[in-house]
Amino acid sequence: MGKIVIIGAGGVGNVVAKKCAQHPDIFTEIWLVSRTEAKCRAIAAEIDKLYGVKVITAAIDADDVAALTNLLQKIRPELVINVALPYQDLHIMKACVAAGVNYLDTANYEPPDMAHFEYSHQWAYQKRFEERGLMAVLGCGFDPGVTNAFCAYAQKHLFDSIETIDIFDANAGDHGHPFATNFNPEINIREVTQTVRHWRDGKWLETPAILDDGAVHFSFDYPVAGPKESYLLYHEEMESLVKHIRGLKRIRFWMTFSENYLNHLKVLKNVGMTGIDPVEFAGQRIIPLQFLKALLPDPGSLGENYSGKTVIGCVFDGLKNGQRQRKYIYNVCDHAETFREVRAQAVSYTTGVPAMIGAMMILQGVWHGAGVFNIEQLDPDRFMDQLNRCGLPWQVVDFAASLPD
Ligand code: NDP
Repeated sequence: MGKIVIIGAGGVGNVVAKKCAQHPDIFTEIWLVSRTEAKCRAIAAEIDKLYGVKVITAAIDADDVAALTNLLQKIRPELVINVALPYQDLHIMKACVAAGVNYLDTANYEPPDMAHFEYSHQWAYQKRFEERGLMAVLGCGFDPGVTNAFCAYAQKHLFDSIETIDIFDANAGDHGHPFATNFNPEINIREVTQTVRHWRDGKWLETPAILDDGAVHFSFDYPVAGPKESYLLYHEEMESLVKHIRGLKRIRFWMTFSENYLNHLKVLKNVGMTGIDPVEFAGQRIIPLQFLKALLPDPGSLGENYSGKTVIGCVFDGLKNGQRQRKYIYNVCDHAETFREVRAQAVSYTTGVPAMIGAMMILQGVWHGAGVFNIEQLDPDRFMDQLNRCGLPWQVVDFAASLPD
């Protein structure tokens, strides 16, 4: 049905490539390109062995817009799946517009020299994609991604108006390392050390970062995983959901962190290892957080001995036919099972599978339109159906527990 180019051959790129190869009728030609081609070749060799599908590889620095445009003009794919880092988003979008290719990613743009992410940079491409008749789908991983689809589904089928949304993200797994991050360490640590924001009555309210005194947390009882301390955190999907969910009065995002993770991170922060300003060392300028990344386990390598589950979902409170209702939509994913299937831990898996399904929606014409879209602006039904078929089954249950105000 269509030719795709996947950019990025890390933990998530590995899952996207393998899940696309499981659907050769839809993804008829798969290119996997990245800065280090050896990583693409290693994944391609596994895919050949597992599924007998040939993936074509190439080296590319996606920050070189001219080189990427040339490559895309040569390949002429229908879609680019960007699973490199958020720093590359705008360069890849620019190359897609120049080469006339649709675009999909899993994380919003972040400037390398400022630990701050927001959609304004990518929403600014609306006109350029619209004028070329191209589609850009933003944030099609799990969160953002599936969480946005859960919200769209709740709005379409379960509620007339949704008043509050609480997104809960638990990684109740154990990778056996004293300290490691589940996706790119630089991006992960930049995200979790930020000042926290949530949205209430039309305004963004700030609370202390998760490591600081006064950080907001409570114990949430997750299905399967049980009670886990969950911390209020700023997460990017809230920025688009406040625009697209009718009647919304409050939205918050909660994530679990173990005491061990927080203690390690606190020490690293206190000694300056999480900083992003360059420092002089032995005649070189280095960025402490990038040096720390070089020391930490590669998230793509964590899968082998990972046990336990991830549990991610949304709790909704709102009205249907004048009656108050509360619903919880969630997925449980098992690290060992995802490793057996695609040699990846569940965090890479829960990101890569929705990216593949989003690509499937575009190639099949289920999602169409010209411009830049967040997931909740697109019809959730076929996407949600494919989650059930492709390894991320979800449940909808009534929700009775009380949450902090
Ligand atoms: P990794 O660090 O494991 O992989 C990143 C890949 O991108 C590497 O192959 C890297 O190449 C490549 N890359 C980096 N810079 C460039 C460049 N300039 N040109 C070409 N390739 C480049 O990250 P993950 O796989 O863990 O994460 C991938 C993305 O998924 C991130 O943007 C992350 O934020 C996002 N994510 C989204 C989630 C969601 O639920 N929405 C959850 C988890 C992650 P090299 O090997 O040379 O370094």
